[in-house]
Amino acid sequence: MTVPRARPPGQDAGELTRRDRSGLLAMAPTRWDLWSLRPRALTYVLTVDLLAVAVLVAAFVWRPADARDWMVAGLLFLGAAVHAEAARHIERIRITRDDRPFIDLKSMWTFAGLLLVHLGPALVLVTVTFAYWWIRNEQHPPPHRWTFSWATVVLGTGAAALVLVDFDKSTLLTAAAGPKGLVLIALAALVRWTVNHGLVVGIILLISSPTPSVRRHLASPADTLLGLGALALGAALAVLASASPWLVPILLVPVIMLHRGVLVDQFRQASRTDPKTGLVNGAAWAELAGKELARARRMRHGLAVLMVDLDNFKAVNDAHGHLAGDEVLRAVAATLSAEVRAYDAVGRFGGEEFVVLLSAVDTASATRAAERLRARIHALDVAVDGPGGSKRIRGLTASVGCVASPTASGSVDELVGAADSALYEAKRAGRDRVVCAPPA
Ligand code: GH3
Ligand code: MG
Ligand code: MG
Repeated sequence: MTVPRARPPGQDAGELTRRDRSGLLAMAPTRWDLWSLRPRALTYVLTVDLLAVAVLVAAFVWRPADARDWMVAGLLFLGAAVHAEAARHIERIRITRDDRPFIDLKSMWTFAGLLLVHLGPALVLVTVTFAYWWIRNEQHPPPHRWTFSWATVVLGTGAAALVLVDFDKSTLLTAAAGPKGLVLIALAALVRWTVNHGLVVGIILLISSPTPSVRRHLASPADTLLGLGALALGAALAVLASASPWLVPILLVPVIMLHRGVLVDQFRQASRTDPKTGLVNGAAWAELAGKELARARRMRHGLAVLMVDLDNFKAVNDAHGHLAGDEVLRAVAATLSAEVRAYDAVGRFGGEEFVVLLSAVDTASATRAAERLRARIHALDVAVDGPGGSKRIRGLTASVGCVASPTASGSVDELVGAADSALYEAKRAGRDRVVCAPPA
């Protein structure tokens, strides 16, 4: 696991070359954005880096490596390189987020290293795998970030080695180890994950402001499974390698399969998200609304559906262009999301229409919420760049149709239909207003 990479999704080749050039410039130590970190974050990073170097040196002082260690570490590196090359096309389209740890599946090779060789060569394997990854990475992540990511893996590996310290490694991977072998390997994997993950989340929290939420920056459940899955495969790899090294290439096939798994969550997310606004799309919203409706019935509370439609939006496009119109849609989406509670669902219904599901509200509070949303849209001041320079779009208005169902009766379609009728009512009455209707 490493610090998230900085590549925005969908970047084209031209952008990459431009970035590469500025990236090379940014590589000079004096230009590292490391130095702009707040003192606490800077101290944290430098401490982790220095500790990792100390652990690496101490590992060799503790137990010198022998020729077999180097041969095994070399073969594992070869495997990691083949894996990295085979998975390049997957990594290229993989979207990473800056606010969450990046799960590096090549950890399976370094974890296998920990189980097969002494700590010193195992940490050298971590180092060369990272070096290879950096050299082959088109964006060449800033060296100080690379070093920090490396340091967190070194410390995670060092901590995991402590779990295994009293156990003879030559029997650990054999039947002779018995259930104790399973417990120790699982514990080592958990320790490695926890230290590595904890240190990465630590720096994300230290650089995110003003009130960071730990939960939001932890690896998602799917990512956690992926990270632990890679370590589990590392253990299987170590057993296979110690029993019959020639069979290791067979494992590469399921490894690439697992690697493709990183995309499943991404595709699932993409199929539910409106790419323009980042809101859930109509289908995903209806699914969420269906679940919320069932929950509301169980909990015996009401809910409301709002349909928000921007007034005369065609005129905004005509006056400022469709790109400016898109900017407005994004601003409206952000405003709607910010104005409702975390458990209310905002979706893009289509075009310039948004749907909002408000949980546990009655007609009066739904009407108040609808009025507040309408006022917030009216107060928007959107900066847009156009051919004639940057401009500001102000004075937007929206019409809102709302339907509140105190008993959460009816289906999602019926509620949406009723909100839609109310919306037409608002449009007919002159726009820029809220009309609330009883459920059909
Ligand atoms: P009304 O007050 O009756 O709602 O008028 P309107 O112009 O908002 O509604 P109309 O249905 O006539 O037109 C909707 C406009 O929304 C036309 C279309 O170009 C624009 N639109 C729909 N989707 C998008 C989009 O994704 N981006 C941009 N920029 N415009 C969009
Ligand atoms: Mg409209
Ligand atoms: Mg419309």
